[in-house]
Amino acid sequence: MRLSRYFLPILRETPKEAEIASHRLMLRAGMIRQEAAGIYAWLPLGFRVLKKIEQIVREEQDRAGAVELLMPTLQLADLWRESGRYDAYGPEMLRIKDRHERELLYGPTNEEMITEIFRAAIRSYRDLPRNLYHIQWKFRDEQRPRFGVMRGREFLMKDAYSFDVDEAAARLSYNKMFVAYLRTFARMGLKAIPMRAETGPIGGDLSHEFLILAETGESGVFCDKGVLDLPIPDEGVDYDGDLSSIIRQWTHLYAATQDVHDEVRFEREVPPERRLQTRGIEVGQIFYFGTKYSAPMNAVVAGSDGVERPIHGGSYGVGVSRLVGATIEAFHDDAGIKWPEPVAPFRVMILNLKQGAADTDAACEQLYAALAAKGMDTLYHDLDERPGAKFATADLIGVPWQILVGPRGLAEGKVEVKRRADGTRDLMSPADALARLTA
Ligand code: ATP
Ligand code: MG
Repeated sequence: MRLSRYFLPILRETPKEAEIASHRLMLRAGMIRQEAAGIYAWLPLGFRVLKKIEQIVREEQDRAGAVELLMPTLQLADLWRESGRYDAYGPEMLRIKDRHERELLYGPTNEEMITEIFRAAIRSYRDLPRNLYHIQWKFRDEQRPRFGVMRGREFLMKDAYSFDVDEAAARLSYNKMFVAYLRTFARMGLKAIPMRAETGPIGGDLSHEFLILAETGESGVFCDKGVLDLPIPDEGVDYDGDLSSIIRQWTHLYAATQDVHDEVRFEREVPPERRLQTRGIEVGQIFYFGTKYSAPMNAVVAGSDGVERPIHGGSYGVGVSRLVGATIEAFHDDAGIKWPEPVAPFRVMILNLKQGAADTDAACEQLYAALAAKGMDTLYHDLDERPGAKFATADLIGVPWQILVGPRGLAEGKVEVKRRADGTRDLMSPADALARLTA
């Protein structure tokens, strides 16, 4: 992508409404624009990151055996009356009427709808287990939308729903999602720690939240530092095999959010030097809730004895849009964002330090074409700006690799390759730069 044809509305001033780094940087880097409180347009740069995160989430859901579909954002109120949640949900639910005075709502979550879809199609225990997911916008009329996309009103969530014949089977489905979540966040370069959690309005009796440790997080967390060093299951993990040893390894050390924290247990189980008390950002939550929805909504399957029983369900959410902000909280410095490669909007940025000069222009064009030929996402800063301004833009938007092409270096046949993560710079020939970045 040539910057001269792109849409990157960089802000030079720090927006004063933004309280935390990720919100400030997303506004300054032209990733999002607020359209109403807690409602954002995703500008091209932000949209690229959102799509990368979404794709990693999708690949790991698919790997774990979940099946993607897409449910609408609008739902009938009557569906929620079946579960009893229409009245229970309160002012967080956006309620709408259509021209026929039919009551609708903008879905804050989809347990009811997926249960309705499931019950219309599935009759027998032989069709189980099943796990269905979608990646769709949600609306929750949060009392205090803040921190940009981290607590929006409209936000993108991946939500998966499992269906099993009994509790023992449902726990196996739960374990698959637990492992899929470990892999998902690790692939994004994040350390997300599963913690025992309260179940809240979704209901049920078994739940973990996955949290990224950050001072700006909204949840207090207490854990054994040992959880920070546990190994992530590799991509060959057998989801149909026995996952219990992985689950045990990840749940035997103390890790709890403040809502369920037990100070006595914490002090008994964790030696003082391993106690970590800090804050975290919730990026995902998984629940087992048994027959909470299937019983009132009559989602039943016939067992091997022919008797119909309500299925045992679980739901599994990932905050896809929140993850964009959470990743920036974890990876930034005073100059801007430092994207981990798997979610970076572009992998390489070419900075032409003397736009309009024959030698630098030619070298940049050649690099740009060669990177494109290798399928490398590249942003070419081809505007007529001072080098200082180009450096600032590149550091702000945080592309992992920068190639600096200036007349002095080129005279010696060299360009500079800068790694945004640690600021290291190396002089090399354009051919070596290509080899290094496309290796
Ligand atoms: P929170 O406690 O932060 O309000 P929640 O527990 O109500 O979140 P869940 O129902 O567990 O949210 O939703 C699944 C995931 O969706 C959360 O783990 C979070 O990452 C994301 N999420 C929830 N609410 C928001 C929001 N208002 N803005 C952005 N992401 C959100
Ligand atoms: Mg939650």
